[in-house]
Amino acid sequence: MRAAWRELTATARRTSEDGLVVGTSGNVSVRVDDTVLVTPSGVPYERLGDGELCAVDLEGRRTAGESEPTSELPLHLAVYRHTAARAVVHTHAVHATAVSTLVRELPAVHYMTAALGGPVRVAPYATYGSDELAAGALTALEARSACLLQNHGTLAYGDGLAQAYDRTAQLEWMCRVWLAASSVPGLTPSLLPEDELARVGEKLRTYGQRSTE
Ligand SMILES: [Zn+2]
Repeated sequence: MRAAWRELTATARRTSEDGLVVGTSGNVSVRVDDTVLVTPSGVPYERLGDGELCAVDLEGRRTAGESEPTSELPLHLAVYRHTAARAVVHTHAVHATAVSTLVRELPAVHYMTAALGGPVRVAPYATYGSDELAAGALTALEARSACLLQNHGTLAYGDGLAQAYDRTAQLEWMCRVWLAASSVPGLTPSLLPEDELARVGEKLRTYGQRSTE
């Protein structure tokens, strides 16, 4: 539990250092058996230490620690209850948030779209912390490991904190590519067809991430 908490605080700090979140926005969680460790509400990531440990069960009841869990807890718990996720990363990354205000789905400008299960959908806007937001995100996550939250940010999960973080960074990077390509006046970015995304998805499953160069 202590080791998982330390990995979580390191991942949270990384989202801040890499510019994916500003201040106390965004949150990170990891599942250990039926316990979810989650970043507390309102504590800057650089101040997160062993004393801020925050653990809840899958119904959101606190099982360890003194600090108040993030207000986005319903979002994290919904993902754990309905997917095989072992870790969840939520950010307000700038390019991804910008894209969430423009389209209903991130156009497939790059083959790494396949690593997230296909074109990344945008969950409709709902107030932060609400069950409605969690439900919309779950729908957007169907057969995907990441989605955008309209006028809000990103959500990605993985088999551990490293994978959930990496998917978040890939998503933000792809949003940045699409914004750059689609802002050239008079030109429209080319997109990858579904059958090519399926081929890449198969390749990634067969050979793993090493084959993505
Ligand atoms: Zn948020």
